[in-house]
Amino acid sequence: MDPGIICFQHCGPKVFCMNLTEKCPTCEEDLSEAKFLLMPFRVPYPFVRASQYPCAVVIKPTVGDFLNDYYNSMDLHIGVTNSSGLIVEFDKHGLRRHKSKEWDQCLLLDQVDTPWREHWDNVLTTFCKDSCWTAKDYDEDAHNCYSFVLCFLCALDYGTLSTAAANRSLFCEQFIVGRTTSAGKYISLFRKLKERCFYVHKE
Ligand SMILES: [Zn+2]
Repeated sequence: MDPGIICFQHCGPKVFCMNLTEKCPTCEEDLSEAKFLLMPFRVPYPFVRASQYPCAVVIKPTVGDFLNDYYNSMDLHIGVTNSSGLIVEFDKHGLRRHKSKEWDQCLLLDQVDTPWREHWDNVLTTFCKDSCWTAKDYDEDAHNCYSFVLCFLCALDYGTLSTAAANRSLFCEQFIVGRTTSAGKYISLFRKLKERCFYVHKE
């Protein structure tokens, strides 16, 4: 999934590319024996496969994926995983607990420590039995995926995650904005490199 964006600095500006260029795009020096200001390294891929993160809170675009389709924070859909890595999500289809490829490129907002996993599953199971999470109850603004996840996190009673969950905007500030902002930088690099071999970042 990781497209493998590489970053290096040879004579000045940061250069980003998918495959290391032969010559420095800035000064044209052959890079095979060149000295770098910053040795080439792989830019950390910000996304995860939800199924590999049990008992976690995850977010993804409502439609499509981050790298190709994400446009702004309005398009986001939030869900949680249980201890076996199954996705539990609430949307217009109602409540679903399943394995889904659609969650193979998402942002990890938080994950509880291992000793808490049994508690997480118990609260989640009880919470899912609540009758207010059917397709009929769904409302795009007032009773949506955020309502489901935030109510569950409050019921969980797990430190700052639950405290923040009591308030939509506080939760967004503490757990979402930072992640989507840094993912946004990666996405913008990826899209630049879809059109050309390298991108020189001039400060
Ligand atoms: Zn150079």
